[in-house]
Amino acid sequence: VKRVRISKRAEERVRRGHPWVYQGEIEDVRGTVSPGEIVNFEGHRGRTLGKGCLNVYSTIALRVLTLDPQEEIDRSFWARRITRAWQYRKEVVYGKESDSYRLIFGEADFLPGLIVDQFASVLVIQILTAGIEKHREVIQEILWDLVHPAGIYERSDVGVRELEGLSLRSGLLAGEVPDLVEIRENGLRLKVDVKFGQKTGYFLDQRENRAFLKRFSLGKRVLDCFSHLGGFGLHAGFFGAREVIGVDISESAVQLAMLNARLNKLENTCRFEVANAFDFLRTVEREKERFDMVILDPPAFAKSKKNLEGAIRGYKEINLRAMKILSSGGLLVTCSCSHHLSWDLFLKVVEEASLDAKRRIRFIAQRGQAPDHPILLGYGESEYLKCLFCEVV
Ligand code: SAH
Repeated sequence: VKRVRISKRAEERVRRGHPWVYQGEIEDVRGTVSPGEIVNFEGHRGRTLGKGCLNVYSTIALRVLTLDPQEEIDRSFWARRITRAWQYRKEVVYGKESDSYRLIFGEADFLPGLIVDQFASVLVIQILTAGIEKHREVIQEILWDLVHPAGIYERSDVGVRELEGLSLRSGLLAGEVPDLVEIRENGLRLKVDVKFGQKTGYFLDQRENRAFLKRFSLGKRVLDCFSHLGGFGLHAGFFGAREVIGVDISESAVQLAMLNARLNKLENTCRFEVANAFDFLRTVEREKERFDMVILDPPAFAKSKKNLEGAIRGYKEINLRAMKILSSGGLLVTCSCSHHLSWDLFLKVVEEASLDAKRRIRFIAQRGQAPDHPILLGYGESEYLKCLFCEVV
């Protein structure tokens, strides 16, 4: 195993639990290392710190696998990490009401670069780094033996792979996977498209926030913006809403949302439309329509720090418009899945929007991602989802 030395600054951060060392922090590489190869890494004084995958061509050059220099990175290592992730899910995803969850959340499960979602009996795997790419077969075998899925599908069709020198790929890896997989979430039935849908097919991180709608939905008129497959809106309908309108810009998502409405016998209360949510909100405001609940769950407007300013304008606009169309005492469920937009900034956005809308806000709940997307202390990047339940007075 080859050795690399990392900078003092990187050493301190890694000791505090952060699993990344950047290109400029690699001070010395002994010998040539192929992308993703496992190396021993040492601190600036030459003390061995642990093992990781090195890819000098990537901005994130070293990904820590273990801080125990004695630990071998063999089959049993991968099996231990994957089994631990699986056992953790058995504890935090409770009840028979949901059969789908994120089984492996990369760095936060001490498996940098690996994402695995379980949708009922199907696993969807996403490999983001050259390090994981080298061990794909063994990881697949371990998952197969542990979970006994009906099939494993790969969705490594994400741009970040190019930063690692990997091409995009997707397709069936093992067993059988239907075009639409039916899952259960909080007692609802949902069809998800793991082969061509967004990301791995469905946004599991909002599961508990959707369930939280239960106490607020009865008799309400609801607008679900950025509805995707109908996750939030269908929950509101299931929990007794009088009328639900969902809007999403993706035609295939809206098609599936309508199918999901029928599947739950909610087609008389829930309908979904293809529309740009910004335009839709503007139209509702102009026509002086009112809703008792508005859900805003947009895609990440801030993909990096660079476009944070533009993102903030976007978040403010939708929040402002949502507040204007809410009836007095109505509920605003507003979310941001941008890691770069901190809680502080997000709360500021909501505050500014409320001042412009001339509405007072009371926070009912400040929530985050479901615990199958754990937040690893020392690795701030693992915290990304913010979900505010607000009473709009
Ligand atoms: N609320 C969903 C997840 C939303 S993900 C759930 O509970 O699962 C973000 C969604 O926003 C995607 O489905 C995407 O198609 C949609 N989207 C992106 N830009 C949009 C826009 N300008 N108007 C409406 N929908 C948009």
